[in-house]
Amino acid sequence: MPELPEVETVARGLRQAILGRRILSVTLGKTDFIDDPVALEQNLPGRRIEAIERYGKFMLLRLSAPNGTNGRFHGDDAKQASLLVHLGMTGQMAPSPAEKPREKHTHVCLLLDDGRELRYTDARRFGRMAYLTEAPLAEELTRFGADPLEVSKEEFVKRIRERRARVKALLLDQSVLRGVGNIYADESLWRAKIHPAQLGAKLAPKQAESLWRALQEILRKAIVLRGSSISDFLDAEGEPGEYQRRHRAYGREGKACQRCSTAIRRGIVAGRSSYFCPQCQPAPRGFAVLPLPPRVARVSAERMRKARRTGRGGIGMSGTGSRAR
Ligand SMILES: [Zn+2]
Repeated sequence: MPELPEVETVARGLRQAILGRRILSVTLGKTDFIDDPVALEQNLPGRRIEAIERYGKFMLLRLSAPNGTNGRFHGDDAKQASLLVHLGMTGQMAPSPAEKPREKHTHVCLLLDDGRELRYTDARRFGRMAYLTEAPLAEELTRFGADPLEVSKEEFVKRIRERRARVKALLLDQSVLRGVGNIYADESLWRAKIHPAQLGAKLAPKQAESLWRALQEILRKAIVLRGSSISDFLDAEGEPGEYQRRHRAYGREGKACQRCSTAIRRGIVAGRSSYFCPQCQPAPRGFAVLPLPPRVARVSAERMRKARRTGRGGIGMSGTGSRAR
């Protein structure tokens, strides 16, 4: 699922490509991911896309006042309307020449005043789209916590340490921080050497501070590399991201930790697969690490034997992840 760096990447690409364009008409396909499809059809035509912002994992396309009123529109809050877009698992949003055949799973086409169409495709339709005027949008956004790139160290440490939930669950909780998902939670916990199942309240202030630093560094780097393309994430130019090559924990079950060479393991935390190094990220008491799948275990053992023979990273597969601290 696109997280903060991927959504930021798409938002930046769209800003380059469609900022200032006016929407002429709306064509909808399947609409079960749209809050109120009729509201899109009635309210988007005639409006200019004045700004494109990221808010957590959402994009906000800020729209001008309805055509002809040039901001002198009074009466209701419709002059401050936005199109809210969540890419869900597989959503993509990109401009395309209007004459180009539409890809499969294209569900929203906004015809722009330069002859292109802004198209939204989403095979699984776990995304969301909504036309929201100022008050409902403000209401919608109050559910979300701090932006991890803007939150101060003190505020972050407070938010993480005041809760008894597991630190991974806190990172994923959009009301605590907005925009972090499974990939960047695992990557920042690995970098900060904190086990995902550790309770937030049990972290030392120094640990919470290093998590704040790790999260910011990783998100910034991932934005520079235009996000992670795990399954089918593409940016607004249709290009995959590069950050998946920098992953140190996420998706690396059975592969050697790049700090200590111990095999990365997987466990379920907050209902999600979580990847960690059992050596660098000591588990809280009683945490159940999942056994390596047989094929992964074979490859991993072979790799470790080789590493020992060549003298590179000699720690091998010590640590099961279930030890008490
Ligand atoms: Zn390690």
